[in-house]
Amino acid sequence: MRKPFIAGNWKMNKDSAGSVELAAGLAKELKDVDSVDVAVCPPFVYLQAVSNAVSGSPVKVGAQNMYFEANGAFTGEISTDMLKDVGCTYVICGHSERRHVIGETDELVNKKVKAAIESGLLPILAVGELLEEREADKTNDVVKTQVTKGLEGVSADDILKVTIAYEPVWAIGTGKTATPDQAQDVHAMIRGLIAELYSQDVADKIRIQYGGSAKPANTAELMAQPDVDGLLVGGASLKVEDFSKMIKTV
Ligand code: PGA
Repeated sequence: MRKPFIAGNWKMNKDSAGSVELAAGLAKELKDVDSVDVAVCPPFVYLQAVSNAVSGSPVKVGAQNMYFEANGAFTGEISTDMLKDVGCTYVICGHSERRHVIGETDELVNKKVKAAIESGLLPILAVGELLEEREADKTNDVVKTQVTKGLEGVSADDILKVTIAYEPVWAIGTGKTATPDQAQDVHAMIRGLIAELYSQDVADKIRIQYGGSAKPANTAELMAQPDVDGLLVGGASLKVEDFSKMIKTV
């Protein structure tokens, strides 16, 4: 009942020609896909070109970040209206690199999630524990806090606009994928939490992506888990062949 959703997070990669080449290649390769929602999230400066390149295809565009204020004196920031203006449907909020490299807090991530929803963008709320948190058996506590605080003030009417992405930080870009069981355990915990915070009906409908060294070779086993509804893909989303293979595996 939950339509799979696979999103590619290009991070700070590609140039303008490379972005368009990748986007156009995916648009062509995935033109007949309708059983999976697909999005690519290029750097801000290539959003317009990528939107043009995927226009008319099933591939949607997302941003990797945003600012929660509508406009004004916020040097270097990008608003939700700007993102919509260049063709975005989705926006990633709270990616671990923003939390741990740039220093974003749960409070800031929550403001972004709410502003995204208000503007009509669909947020992908990314959460996940550090290696030392997993080793200290704190995974569930950390993820619960990030989900609860990230969704604070999001109403029952709006919650299904959100996709949650569980991305264990130790698995991101390391080649160390969480095992399907490890992913399933945390996804099931998140779904249970959503049932507590909202309702069982909402919990049954909300999509939870896994992210962290997802690639063609592990897509089938991850997606076979009952609570894994999609993937947020970094490295493997940078090649037409790899990313389209993952989508066609689902
Ligand atoms: P990765 O990144 O697939 O390269 O591990 C995933 C992510 O950070 O979204």
